[in-house]
Amino acid sequence: MTYEKRYDGRDFDETRKVEIKMGVIPRANGSAMFSFGNTKAIAAVYGPRLMHPQHLQNPEKAVLRCSYDMLSFSVTERKKPGPSRRSSEISHVIMNALTPVLQLENFPNAVIDLEIEIIQADASTRCAGINAAALALAHAGIPMTDLISAVSVGNIGNKICIDITKEEEDYEEDGEKLATDIPVAFAPRKNRLTLLQLDGKVKPEVLKKVIEAGNKACMKINEAQKKALRDLKMETELPEEEEK
Ligand code: UDP
Repeated sequence: MTYEKRYDGRDFDETRKVEIKMGVIPRANGSAMFSFGNTKAIAAVYGPRLMHPQHLQNPEKAVLRCSYDMLSFSVTERKKPGPSRRSSEISHVIMNALTPVLQLENFPNAVIDLEIEIIQADASTRCAGINAAALALAHAGIPMTDLISAVSVGNIGNKICIDITKEEEDYEEDGEKLATDIPVAFAPRKNRLTLLQLDGKVKPEVLKKVIEAGNKACMKINEAQKKALRDLKMETELPEEEEK
């Protein structure tokens, strides 16, 4: 037995419905919501502003502080509020996935706070978080050399699946877990991989295919992100309605 048909009927190389909303948090300098189906992430950017206390300032570039968290009721079994080992690890990998394209040297002694909140989780939350964060950073006007896109790739019962759900992450055959989750992120312009994690086991030749499949999916996600930014620009450039 293998995983022949996806639980939700999607093609193996298809993401769930991608939904993007820009400017969801008016008080932030930049914000965005990004969903993969039932996985929904909100990212907000505050700054750049002068870093306090002063001894934490870097005179050569801004410091990016990244925080990822999930709402307690975003998951089926209530999650204890507050930071955890998992949230610290994910904050760290998200920061590493985004920094290669950020021109932080434009803002010496400054701090940029990036807050990512998962409001509903059905796996792939770090990838949704990265996609929302890239958009929020662009919305905040932080100069970037590229727009990062991320997707989870699963090796589920020996089938490569794009954008896996929790049900797929928990896939078993004869009581044995047969699911490997491999989140990837790309900077498309130079086709640079900025995130690669692996939860499970995979053969090297399969990993190569996984990265190729992830790359293709990220290119499509990148188009959706760029469209959201273009639409926003069009909206702000529209002439104001005349008073009647
Ligand atoms: N999850 C959960 N409770 C938790 C942490 C995770 O129910 O405290 C679920 C949630 O659906 C999450 C999934 O497990 O999206 C996979 O979590 P993982 O740590 O692999 O990260 P993700 O795939 O979300 O980036």
